[in-house]
Amino acid sequence: MVGDRIKEIIQTLPPGVKLCAVSKYHPSSLIQEAYDAGQRIFGESHVQELQQKQALLPNDIEWHFIGHLQTNKVKYIAPYVSLIHSVDSIRLLNEINKQALKHNRTIPCLLQLHVAEEETKFGFSTEECMAWLQTREFLNMPGIAIAGIMCMATNTDDEVRIRKDFNTAHNFYLQCKAAIPELAQTMTICSWGMSGDYPIAIEEGSNLIRVGSFIFGEREY
Ligand SMILES: *Cc1c(COP(=O)(O)O)cnc(C)c1O
Repeated sequence: MVGDRIKEIIQTLPPGVKLCAVSKYHPSSLIQEAYDAGQRIFGESHVQELQQKQALLPNDIEWHFIGHLQTNKVKYIAPYVSLIHSVDSIRLLNEINKQALKHNRTIPCLLQLHVAEEETKFGFSTEECMAWLQTREFLNMPGIAIAGIMCMATNTDDEVRIRKDFNTAHNFYLQCKAAIPELAQTMTICSWGMSGDYPIAIEEGSNLIRVGSFIFGEREY
């Protein structure tokens, strides 16, 4: 079942687009099923839940953190997390840098952009984000690599609006690489698209989709 869903998605992905299977709130047994079908990248959004699953499940899983991350919890995931999608403040970036260095690691990070209409979503504005990148401070932060941009579209059925949000993020990504040549090498990831909108996201430049309910079914909260 879960394995069939994974294969169904993988078949439709253009070359170069990867799937992060969002397993938050789903039991380790379902993650193991997806793993057995060949899936290796999983996304979680709560530190404690991720800790428990990471300890139980195979070592070659690439764990992605996709939820709002509190600074005081970075230390728990720093030893093993392979990508943090949801970096929404410079303070958080500084903490990730510090914790990564304790483990002799460089943790790839995506800067989360706020492009959606809702006010409650976390993330940088394009202006804030560009202003910080222009300082080149990241060049003095060997514990992090600015690996790309992440966003969530407005929660709506309006395809035009969703497309516009993704397009804003994609243009910003291209603009960063053009304006800051030091980023061109490391910055390669565009993370957008969930169960309801990933086909549009791919058309609008995504190369890492984060799909949960389509694979694992509805979550129990
Ligand atoms: C839960 C979640 C997803 C997956 O959403 P689905 O609609 O279940 O595919 C993707 N990204 C983030 C940041 C999430 O929190």
